[in-house]
Amino acid sequence: MHLDFLGSLTRTHMCGDLRPADAGEDVVLMGWVNRRRDHGNLIFLDLRDRSGITQVVLDKEHAPAAHLKAEAARPEFVVAVTGKVRERGEGLNNPKMDTGDIEVLGHQLLLLNDAKTPPFSPAEDAIANEEVRLKYRYLDLRRKEMQDNFKLRSEVAMAIRNYLVGENFLEIETPFMTRSTPEGARDYLVPSRVHPGHFYALPQSPQIFKQILMISGFDRYFQIARCFRDEDLRADRQPEFTQIDLETTFPQQATIFRIVEGFLTAAFATAGVTLSSPFVQMTYDEAIRRYGIDKPDMRLPALVDLTDTLTPELRMTLKIEQSLPVLGIKIPNAGQLSGTQTRALQDEIREVFGDCGLDFLNVARLKTNENFAPLATAIESEMEGSDPHITAEKRGGPRLAPGNLLVVITPKLGTPEKWNHDPHWIYKKVGVLRLALARKFADKHKLFERTGTANDYKFLWVTDFPMYEWDDDAKTWQAAHHPFTSPHEDDITSGRLVSDKGAVRALAYDIVLNGTELGSGSIRIHRKDVQQEIFRSLGMSDEEAKARFGFFLDALDYGTPPHGGIALGLDRIVMILAGAQSLREVIAFPKTAKAIDLMVDAPTPVSDQQLRDLSLRTVTRT
Ligand code: ASP
Repeated sequence: MHLDFLGSLTRTHMCGDLRPADAGEDVVLMGWVNRRRDHGNLIFLDLRDRSGITQVVLDKEHAPAAHLKAEAARPEFVVAVTGKVRERGEGLNNPKMDTGDIEVLGHQLLLLNDAKTPPFSPAEDAIANEEVRLKYRYLDLRRKEMQDNFKLRSEVAMAIRNYLVGENFLEIETPFMTRSTPEGARDYLVPSRVHPGHFYALPQSPQIFKQILMISGFDRYFQIARCFRDEDLRADRQPEFTQIDLETTFPQQATIFRIVEGFLTAAFATAGVTLSSPFVQMTYDEAIRRYGIDKPDMRLPALVDLTDTLTPELRMTLKIEQSLPVLGIKIPNAGQLSGTQTRALQDEIREVFGDCGLDFLNVARLKTNENFAPLATAIESEMEGSDPHITAEKRGGPRLAPGNLLVVITPKLGTPEKWNHDPHWIYKKVGVLRLALARKFADKHKLFERTGTANDYKFLWVTDFPMYEWDDDAKTWQAAHHPFTSPHEDDITSGRLVSDKGAVRALAYDIVLNGTELGSGSIRIHRKDVQQEIFRSLGMSDEEAKARFGFFLDALDYGTPPHGGIALGLDRIVMILAGAQSLREVIAFPKTAKAIDLMVDAPTPVSDQQLRDLSLRTVTRT
């Protein structure tokens, strides 16, 4: 194959630029052959670059040399075309293409590079095999969908930067090679060659550094920061991911909320979505009691608390535990279920609950019994009427849509004692079922479907998280957030840090979108005595605290202002805005769920020499 040199040729337009107004103009386009159609004397090349596609015609009579080269061109060849823009003429235009009213009549064609037949065509919309896509990522990224995702990502990041800089934030970089930051995952370690047996850790987040930047008086810091977490393999996690990380001095929670709402509004505006703020706020306790989860999906109706609808007498007859709540789940528009469907649904509910002590009340059966019919009616009207979210139903459908599925969950008599340490357990269990049912009937209620408006995005702040979580395996209290999170001031003064850990609330908050946690943050501890107390209350001795965080405790000694911040996952925000199903669609070079980069083939073993340099030896685990 004879390839041409570029010489001094420069392109005049991008492939997506030309319109009928450009007719008659001489242009130079460069790009990839998206498709080629050979009609004998006429060869059509669809020329593609980031901006779009232009049809180029090579006419044997008009430009025989160019036509000859076009005969050799194949998909994904890189070419340069010199030619004249012309309108396509009646009936020949393609309304599906932005450039569909024009074409370029080629005078000269340069074949700048050839291409092997690709394993899949970047011109195709959907490619089934993700492994092949990841292995040939450079081809995958040529696809329009991917190009659009990364354009969006760049614009979103820029909008956020601009907003934060406008709010007096400084972008400051923090190190990748550092020491462990406790965010609850394992560290990725980097062995030091010059200090044998010593390791750097890649940051799980810039947490400690950003707090130190507040001690240093920078007042407002942000960073679009890469974080590294060696987590157990989970479908939608990436070992390295990007956070919009920020910290500010002297904030109230409301200060942070306003900043985040501001930059999210700017980010969503780049995708044409106008958000309205302030976002809804809810305490952790309320989120659990109303939605059964600390990241409620507000597109769905809340749980209905039917506890008071069931009198003690009725409970006795129906063998329902007296002291625990009775909760209803409503799935709108699920439609009428057949007998078989109902039985399958009941099996599914039993499966979700296992033997945890929860059961469901068969409201339909109650209705047929004279004694219980009034109860059934009361339950139905309570559940149909008490839902504030249904009135705001995005499609403006009827308030009481027929075919709502109502499921009532009751605790059996003698429900296991083991749950007693967590008064939220019943809500959480029912919350899981609520989501499972919502997913199951998604085709029917359509509440997860995108309409392209701000209604698709239900944001919410969840506040007042518990400070500690009981770890049943280790039989200890763990920090629910990271250990730099401040408890409520009155929980410190009242002594609850010691006397009643389970009741201590943290000044921690999450931002939730459509049932996904987008980010979390907190007001931090700024006093050394409190920080030491928290370390102790987490079972860390003063010596251990000094060994791990001595530098930080030292810094707290030198005039640390009250400060607080948050971090939001950029990848996830872009994924949601792009309507993508996986983080891998919005990370240019992602890893698989097994933490492998299929393109560069990492991780790999390294040479013995490299290991020797690092004073390392690998052993095979038995
Ligand atoms: N460092 C925390 C995280 O990565 C966020 C924060 O508290 O600002 O989740």
